[in-house]
Order: sequence, then structure tokens, then C-alpha cells
Amino acid sequence: LTTKVKQVENLPAETPDGQGIDILLNAGLSAGSFENSKDNVKGIGLYRTEIPFMNRSRFPSEQEQTNLYAEVLNNFCHLPVTMRTLDVGGDKSLPYFPIVEDNPFLGWRGIRITLDHPEIFLLQVRAMMRANKDSNNLEIMLPMISSVGEVDEALRLINQAHFELASEMQFDAGCSLVKPKVGIMIEVPSVIFQLADLAKKVDFFSVGSNDLTQYLLAVDRNNARVASLYTPYHPSVLRALNMIAQESKRHHIPLSLCGELASEPAGALLLLAMGYDKISMNPHNVARIKWVIRHVDFKIAKAILSKVLTFVNAQQVVDYLNEQLEQLG
Ligand code: PEP
Ligand code: MG
Repeated sequence: LTTKVKQVENLPAETPDGQGIDILLNAGLSAGSFENSKDNVKGIGLYRTEIPFMNRSRFPSEQEQTNLYAEVLNNFCHLPVTMRTLDVGGDKSLPYFPIVEDNPFLGWRGIRITLDHPEIFLLQVRAMMRANKDSNNLEIMLPMISSVGEVDEALRLINQAHFELASEMQFDAGCSLVKPKVGIMIEVPSVIFQLADLAKKVDFFSVGSNDLTQYLLAVDRNNARVASLYTPYHPSVLRALNMIAQESKRHHIPLSLCGELASEPAGALLLLAMGYDKISMNPHNVARIKWVIRHVDFKIAKAILSKVLTFVNAQQVVDYLNEQLEQLG
């Protein structure tokens, strides 16, 4: 990183004309790997719990998961930590839980698996809530939601886990157990048309732009042969992201985005202009994104967004954004 970029690392992500956006971290390994960035961000926007599951030869026990989650939650105490429930299937498989399918990305994945195996889900959310006992900064996020029924079912299980734990813990200590906020990933296109219904059920939305791009465009996110078609700058993806922002505002529900788009200067600029409250990214991108935001007036970002939303293909969007970013240096 150039020194000019490094210098803004611990400054707020705020435009010169005073519009702020919260920057959070994407994480998944142990707490140590992002320790250094802690003071520069507003929390963890996406903790991918599948990664500790992948590192093992069997499902981690409730106690193992509790220890692991507690390490992260305690490390970030006073800052929100959004833990996503297990999101395996698709391209991520566990050696001890093989799934063989012709179309893994359209198959048994994320919340679909954990609702079919409530014992895995219950154990995981119990571990999360146990780990949250002292720090009280846990938020739970549900991946791959495609319908309202899945949310109802997941909330029912979370309530059950909370109820059971609370009664067990009263036995030990007489302490009360706080119920964490629960949100969903917006990454399957069907939910874009049910945001009003979903806003009544959950506490926040977080867009998974990696999967949302894949599913909106019907382009496998990992297939090199169609890689040139996979772009979040496709006008349909950008209009969807903008629509999600407007709907979330209308229903007063906090909105973040935790896909790779948030780590790209052009992407972050557009998300700021659309009105996203938070963006979440890998630690090494934080300084660069802050630098961009601190060098573009919000009113300019809004003008750039208005122009971008008039283009009819991704190449025009990308060319125009590159031109605008070059002017910034
Ligand atoms: C996404 O889909 O954008 C996302 C953040 O989740 P993952 O990349 O883990 O699927
Ligand atoms: Mg995803």
C-alpha cells in the first residue's frame, strides 16, 4: 500500500461533504488473522463459520464451536459480530459430509441443508449464543434464503435454542440470556421481490453480491469459461442492488453488503451512493476503500450513480467508472 493510502487506515470512511458509511470485516479463520484491523472498522460484517468446519475431520462439537466463537466475539467486544450459520454445499464441501449433485449451486446448500438437519443448526446457534454470554455483540445471519417459510423455520429453531439455553443457564447462574439480532443474506433473486415481507421478520439484510451476481446472471461464479460474463457491473445487477437499497430504506431495515463488490473502489463508491449503511470486506482492502470514500463528495458519487444506471451494458459501466476513478488519482 502506498503511504498516502495507509494514512487514512484509522480515519472514518466519510466523504469530504460528510456522508459516512460503516466499514466492517469479512472473516472466518481464528481471531488472530484480523486482529490488526480491529481499531479501523465498525465490527465484523460476515464471519463465515464454514471455514472452521472445513478444517476438521468431523463436525465440531458444541463446546468446540462455543470456544471458537467466543474467541472472536470477545475479541471484538463492543463491536457487532455477524456470524453466518453454516453455508456449505455449492462449491464448499466438508470431507466428512459429502454431497454429490449435478448442479451444486442450485442444490442442497446453506440454509437448505441446516433446515433439513435441524440438529446441526440448533447445535450451532446454541454454541453462538453461549459464546455471546459475556460480550453480547452477536448477530446471526442466515445464508441462501429464498423464501419467507425458510426464515420462519429458522427463527423458530433459534427461538427454541434460546429458550432451552436460557432455562439451562438459569439453573447455573440465574443470568438472563439476550436474544441476538437475526438477519438474512440477500443473495437469491427471489427474495428481492419479497423484501417487504422479510423486513417484518428480521433485523437486517446483508447482500451477498457474489452469489446474487451468479444467480441473477445464471453464470457460475467459479467457471473460467464464462468468467467474462460474471460481473456485478451488469446493469441488471446494479439496478437490483439499487432497488434493494431503496426498499430497505422504505422499510427502515439496516442494509449492508458483504460480497467482493464492497472491496472494489468503484463498487464501494456506488454502494455509498445507493445508501448502503455498511460494507464488509477483507482486512487488506479497508485502507484503499476508505481512501476512495474520503476523496469523493457524496453529491459526486450520487451523480456518478445516476449516470451509471443509464448504461445498457457492463462494459460501458466499467469504462465510465474507471475514467471517473482515474480523475481521483
Ligand atoms: C456472497 O455470496 O456474496 C457472500 C458474501 O457469501 P459467499 O461468498 O461466502 O457465498
Ligand atoms: Mg453467498
